[in-house]
Amino acid sequence: AALVSGTGDGAADGDVRIVSAKQRFVFEQGLRQAIARHEFRLVYQPFVNADEERVSGGEALLRWASAEHGDVPPTTFIPIVEAVGMAEEVGMWVLNEACDEAARWPFSGLSDLKVAVNLSALQLGRGDFDAVVERMLKRHSMPARALELELTETVAAGKSLGIGNLFQRLRALGVSMSIDDFGTGFSSLSYLKNLKFDKLKIDREFVTDVHRQRDSQAICQSIIALGRGLGIEVLAEGVEQWDEFAWLRRYGCALYQGYYFSKPLMPREFLAFASDKDHIRSLVEVGPTTLK
Ligand code: C2E
Ligand code: MG
Ligand code: MG
Ligand code: MG
Repeated sequence: AALVSGTGDGAADGDVRIVSAKQRFVFEQGLRQAIARHEFRLVYQPFVNADEERVSGGEALLRWASAEHGDVPPTTFIPIVEAVGMAEEVGMWVLNEACDEAARWPFSGLSDLKVAVNLSALQLGRGDFDAVVERMLKRHSMPARALELELTETVAAGKSLGIGNLFQRLRALGVSMSIDDFGTGFSSLSYLKNLKFDKLKIDREFVTDVHRQRDSQAICQSIIALGRGLGIEVLAEGVEQWDEFAWLRRYGCALYQGYYFSKPLMPREFLAFASDKDHIRSLVEVGPTTLK
């Protein structure tokens, strides 16, 4: 039997990865020890607010540097983490580590930065996840507004009835809620009525070559209009080219994440990027001809 992932939460960008049962078993052993061996770390990818020419926060992305397997991508190991019942344990490690890091950011002269943490559906299974988050914020003396939680729309839609109360309580704490990979889940839009999100992230699938893809343009314009109508911030994921950024900006997208601005960075590099106002301005202002 093979483990096929990519349709659910945790698998990014419509990627379909197939890991053989044997490989999965081998990974599983290593994953059970990864936390103790300090093989996990988080990298942070900046969110850029184009009008303000500043970094508004960053997404914490999990990396596994395995002694046995080398660097294993999260799209490969997160489905295994979930399948073997480690989602809560790993999720707690990620949340604690991200808060530990982000709690220091104000001391670097950077204010109002949010750290975004990806959640697995399984973490919402425990009804008191809001209490977990509250304790975590307290432990790190971190204001709730500095934390953002990312859910895929498949999770939000599939669980919108069940997680309604939990979702309300998380927002009542002051934590921001974000929809990840918007447009790629097989879902209706009705969860947008039931759950009040703060941010909507357009999946990279629609961002890639948007400046020359008619279908992507129609989809991005609709998502931006949807965000505006609902009063939800819109972020474009996976922006790699200045042309994509320029097109999206012209149509009113406010926030950007992607290799054009920055790859996911080690904590210190992330702070350096966020502090470099001139560099951020040049990325926002410089046109394609100047780049050549
Ligand atoms: P995601 O949440 O949609 O994260 C964005 C992914 O796109 C990241 O991949 C990021 O490195 C990649 N990316 C960002 N900009 C660009 C770009 O310009 N071009 C391209 N080609 N890719 C770009 P990564 O780090 O491999 O993570 C993949 C997925 O794994 C994430 O997708 C998320 O669903 C999941 N993941 C990562 N960390 C965690 C975690 O701590 N917990 C959970 N539950 N899932 C996680
Ligand atoms: Mg994505
Ligand atoms: Mg994400
Ligand atoms: Mg995403």
